[in-house]
Amino acid sequence: MTEAATDTPMIRVSAVDKYFGALHVLKDIDLEVPRGQVVVVLGPSGSGKSTLCRVINRLETIDSGSIAIDGTPLPAEGRALAELRADVGMVFQQFDLFAHKTILDNVTLGPIKVRKVGRAAAREEAMQLLERVGIADQADKHPAQLSGGQQQRAAIARALAMRPKVMLFDEPTSALDPEMVNEVLEVMTGLAAEGMTMLVVSHEMGFARRAAHRVLFMADGEVAEDSTPDDFFQAPKSSRATDFLGKIL
Ligand code: ADP
Ligand code: MG
Repeated sequence: MTEAATDTPMIRVSAVDKYFGALHVLKDIDLEVPRGQVVVVLGPSGSGKSTLCRVINRLETIDSGSIAIDGTPLPAEGRALAELRADVGMVFQQFDLFAHKTILDNVTLGPIKVRKVGRAAAREEAMQLLERVGIADQADKHPAQLSGGQQQRAAIARALAMRPKVMLFDEPTSALDPEMVNEVLEVMTGLAAEGMTMLVVSHEMGFARRAAHRVLFMADGEVAEDSTPDDFFQAPKSSRATDFLGKIL
């Protein structure tokens, strides 16, 4: 690999604007996330955090600007979009598993359909991933038979099965009972330690301090602060961030 390729940011968001009708939800956002970096995004409800994730995964279109994953601009639609989207794994607050399929089938579906992996190979790889997130023994069950924490770990395994270059997490532990938060954060911490590039919307301070290289604070559709976890939590620069931290800490 050439040096230039290594320097290409894994995620590049350039001058992105997004409107919902008259509502300006993302305002001229510029963001570069280098390979292997873990970014925690926080900010008040309605500040645009989920929309930022969704435009990076192209679940939402943008009104202006551009987004590139590992140097490849997000195409508008079609096969190229499907391929590029496979590079970006996403885990949502609501685990979003297919209810009528087993956990194993949830994980193998994408590789078989999109990556064209053979069924046996897909199952083998899926079992390794379920092992890695600690729920191999749940493979033949249906989502409703699992706890929330187990379902969210299954959702992470399903995303990883696509061999993404980037993982986006949108409040992955917000819907969980408190005693299940850590088992999900531990899986995420492990991924971070292995060098996965991650954008994580989360208000879990422990995770941010332990795993994040960088914290973005969003307010009113803008990145209001971009700093290290230590700097942000100890001495936020803006009054908006100070107010926010006062409410969640
Ligand atoms: P956050 O994740 O930070 O809470 P969101 O990105 O979900 O914020 O939302 C940002 C703003 O955009 C909010 O005002 C929200 O109501 C609005 N919004 C989000 N999705 C839609 C949509 N599909 N249609 C209209 N407005 C939306
Ligand atoms: Mg949100």
